[in-house]
Amino acid sequence: MSRRLDGKRALVTAAAQGIGEAIARGFADEGADVLATDIAEEVLAGLGETEGIRTRRLDATDAAAIDALVEADGPFDVLVNCAGFVHHGTVLDCSEEQWDLSFDLNVKSMYRTCRAVIPGMRERGGGSIINIASICAHKGLPNRFAYGASKAAVVGLTKAIAADFVGDGIRCNAINPGTVQSPSLDQRIGAFDDPVAARAAFVARQPMGRLGRPEEIAAMAVYLASDESVFTSGTEMNVDGGMSI
Ligand code: NAD
Repeated sequence: MSRRLDGKRALVTAAAQGIGEAIARGFADEGADVLATDIAEEVLAGLGETEGIRTRRLDATDAAAIDALVEADGPFDVLVNCAGFVHHGTVLDCSEEQWDLSFDLNVKSMYRTCRAVIPGMRERGGGSIINIASICAHKGLPNRFAYGASKAAVVGLTKAIAADFVGDGIRCNAINPGTVQSPSLDQRIGAFDDPVAARAAFVARQPMGRLGRPEEIAAMAVYLASDESVFTSGTEMNVDGGMSI
């Protein structure tokens, strides 16, 4: 039986846990040959036991390492940019270092990977780039100053790349997740004085009354990676439990 991503070679950043891990697994389930990357090598290693997934250490802020990986393992048909970091606080709480880290990891990493991967996609006649943004790109949320600004930039980057390479068969789309259960969400909740109330507040943000599951974001990524979405580029898919309604 044919699967939706048979024959496709995919590169996923930040794939050791959370949404990135679910995307790597979802792609492999659909027949893709997946290179799952992250800086957390030990956590990532578990994924390498899954059929269809190879793992490699990759720091998404390291341009030379990205270029070397693409040179050695490319070309790719699909690129998923998942690396991201949540700074908690307002503009008054955000140091220049935290602002710079937010933009370096959340946005500039995508510039680096796209720059490395697009020439190979062009030669192969096309490809699909999927950027994990956030509903914060559009909706002002408290204490998400640098995060929201950086994720809005991801949407701009997505549309710019889509416009520049639409004639090459290269599509570029963003996914805006709402609040999704992940190890880092647990850490953020654990940092509150009252974690129970904090979790309830995170849940209440979604009109559907629950957190999203990483697999629900992965399902959208599979669609955007597959040829089912060949007429779709430069768009954003909100997978957010109704947060953006
Ligand atoms: P997570 O935050 O639990 O895990 C992040 C992963 O990124 C970790 O495996 C970590 O090792 C890796 N990482 C950190 N720095 C890296 C670097 N320099 N290079 C490569 N990898 C690095 O995962 P998550 O919460 O599922 O978030 C994944 C993406 O989804 C992020 O871009 C995040 O902003 C976005 N997102 C998450 C949510 C949510 O509620 N979880 C909502 C909207 C958007």
